[in-house]
Amino acid sequence: MKRLTSLSHNAAFAPTLLALLFQLSAYPGQLAIVIDDVGYSREVGERVLALPNAVSIAVLPFTPQAVTLAAHAQAIGKDVLLHQPLESEIQSKKAGRTLTLNMSSDDIKREVNAALKSIPGVKGVSNHTGSRFTQDVPSMNALMSVISAHGLFFLDSRTTARTVAMRVAMDWGVPAVRRDVFLDHDREVRAINAAFERALGIANRRGYAILIAHPHDITLQFLETRLPTLQKTTLVPVSSLTTSQSEDLAKKVVGFHWTTQRSTYSQSPFDYSEVRYSNPFVDGVPSTRGSIANAILKARPNALKMVSAWW
Ligand SMILES: [Zn+2]
Repeated sequence: MKRLTSLSHNAAFAPTLLALLFQLSAYPGQLAIVIDDVGYSREVGERVLALPNAVSIAVLPFTPQAVTLAAHAQAIGKDVLLHQPLESEIQSKKAGRTLTLNMSSDDIKREVNAALKSIPGVKGVSNHTGSRFTQDVPSMNALMSVISAHGLFFLDSRTTARTVAMRVAMDWGVPAVRRDVFLDHDREVRAINAAFERALGIANRRGYAILIAHPHDITLQFLETRLPTLQKTTLVPVSSLTTSQSEDLAKKVVGFHWTTQRSTYSQSPFDYSEVRYSNPFVDGVPSTRGSIANAILKARPNALKMVSAWW
C-alpha cells in the first residue's frame, strides 16, 4: 500500500518536473534587439529595416513615415511594436500625443486604440520615455487593458527603476518583457561596444537578453558591422521572448529563483489590492485575462513547492 502511494506520487510528478526542466533549458544565448523611435525619416528607417530580420522596430505613432515603414517591416517579417509616448519626469522631453497622468482612463484608452489603428502589423507595445507614467498603477491599468484586449505583448523600456509595468501587465494577462540594456545611452563607440558586450554577457549567462537601441548614425554603423560577426549568440525577434519571460516572472512571483534553480518556499505573490479592473470574476469563475492569469499563478506555487520537495 505504501509502495502504491509513492508510485502514484511518482507518476503525478514526472510531467511537472519534465516541464520545469524543459523551461530551464529553453532559449539559450538569445539576443533580441529593438530599434526605437522609428518613423521620422524614411531613409534612416530603411537603413534600420536592412539590419538582420530578427532585429525588431518600435514605431512612434503619427510620425511622417510611421505607416510606410511599419508596412515594409511587416512585409519582410520583422516584429513591429507601437512605441507609445508616455509622460516623463523631465517636462521638456515630450513627443507628440504623449499620454499623461492628467488624462482620464477613457482618454488613455482612446489614444492607445487610435495609435494601434494607425500602424499596420503591430505585435506589441513599448514605452517611449514614461518615467512618470510607468510608475502610476491606474494609468498603466488603462494602457494595459487596451494591450490585453488586442492580444499584444508589452516591452518595458524601463525608463525608471520604479516602473510597475511588469506587475500590471501580469495582472492583465499581457505577456511582458523588460529591457536589459540601452545600447547607445552614451553615443560614443567605446561605450556602445561596452553596452553590447554587457548584453551578450547577460544573454549567454541567463539564456536571453533584450537590447534597445536608437537609429543614430553611430549606432547603426556599429550594428551593421558587429551583427554579422556574432558567434555564440542567436538574434531573435523580441516577440519570441515574451512567453518565456512571463514564465520567468511567474516563477519569481512564487519564489522560484532562476539562478539557484531552487524554490525558496516563499509563497507570497505580489499584492494586487491596488490594481482594480471591472468584473474579474463572474459567478466565482475568473473572467478577464488578468484574473485567469492570477488563478494560474495561485495554483502554481504548490506545484513548484512539491517539485523542490521531490528534489
Ligand atoms: Zn523612444
